[in-house]
Amino acid sequence: MGAQLKVVVVGAGLSGLVAATELADAGVDVTVLDKGRSVGGRLATRRLADARLDHGAQFFTVRSPAFRRRVDDWVDRGLVAVWNHGFDADDGHPRYVGTAGMNSLAKDLAASAERAGATIMTSTLAFGLRPSPGDSPQHRWEVVIDDGSTLPTDAVIFTCPLAQTFALLADVGVWKSGDEATDAAHDAIVARLGIDLDQTLFRTQYDRTIALLATVDGPTAIPEPGGVQDGDDVFSFIGDNQAKGISSSPAVTFHANAEWSEAHWDDDADTTLAALEAAARPWLGDAQIIERQLKTWRFATPRTVWPDPCWTTADGTVVVAGDAFAGPRVEGAHNSGLAAAHSLLA
Ligand SMILES: Cc1cc2nc3c(=O)[nH]c(=O)nc-3n(C[C@H](O)[C@H](O)[C@H](O)COP(=O)(O)OP(=O)(O)OC[C@H]3O[C@@H](n4cnc5c(N)ncnc54)[C@H](O)[C@@H]3O)c2cc1C
Repeated sequence: MGAQLKVVVVGAGLSGLVAATELADAGVDVTVLDKGRSVGGRLATRRLADARLDHGAQFFTVRSPAFRRRVDDWVDRGLVAVWNHGFDADDGHPRYVGTAGMNSLAKDLAASAERAGATIMTSTLAFGLRPSPGDSPQHRWEVVIDDGSTLPTDAVIFTCPLAQTFALLADVGVWKSGDEATDAAHDAIVARLGIDLDQTLFRTQYDRTIALLATVDGPTAIPEPGGVQDGDDVFSFIGDNQAKGISSSPAVTFHANAEWSEAHWDDDADTTLAALEAAARPWLGDAQIIERQLKTWRFATPRTVWPDPCWTTADGTVVVAGDAFAGPRVEGAHNSGLAAAHSLLA
């Protein structure tokens, strides 16, 4: 392989962007596709009036040397700061945040990938993967994208939540990410691409999250340091974006826990909004909600994590990565993206 290698990365979340940066730095011809209007995936930050709110990942911790190096660089450049050292009690471990919101970290990686020569295509849905036609094609695979065109490539790194990745490995339109992970669907992928896809990996499930984003008119009752984990029966996390330092005006992110989100997933938006606002009330003190928005994450958190940092086909040309591999959090996504890139550079 080497300098001539052509790689398509599906997904411009943290893992895809890390993989793309690493590969582009090594001289690989990289194209990144994301169906979203901008990069970041679950590193998501939204503006509501003049407030700024993180509505996916809220903070992160650092345990591994590889992520330590990345975070040290972000801290040196003012992109990341320490929010606190524990929500209930000081445990000595820093909780970091993006100083301009978590999405700014994805933007930073995308910019460095592009500087190194990568092409990043947003608003571009990958539909499927197929072997290149012909007896001796120049490239091993074709990635089919939503305008009907194809991208020929030597290797593909998939970094979507796993059900979305496996929908791309099934024949176009045959099995969708919301469909049940049956033996037949698994066997169809194995037969179609001739890959040894593990059944357990194929059946990885994700918890959902329903988020309420709210701007408020004054101080809330959320205690120092402005974040509460598993504070009651409804919310897994409550984050005061002003206390966190990313919003100039008061704005709160409420994440309903997995059980609540699952139970209310099919409710209509008005009913869900009313229920979440009622549950949020005790945390708001005297503050009143000015603007609110709902955000739903169908594939928020993998319920199980694969023991290796990425998965590859026997010939190494299809790599599956993301936070279902190196841990269901920011650091895991980062390290899985690195491992995916290195599997192609080895
Ligand atoms: C509500 C919530 C709260 C969280 N809180 C924390 C936290 O506090 N701390 C922490 O460490 N972690 C947290 N996480 C987890 C963290 O956000 C993720 O682990 C990490 O961002 C995942 O990155 P990724 O690159 O693996 O996947 P993603 O960010 O999901 O990226 C995958 C990308 O693939 C794209 N995609 C999917 N299908 C296609 C397709 N067919 N074609 C093209 N593109 C496609 C998507 O648009 C997406 O951008 C949270 C996650 C959620 C949802």
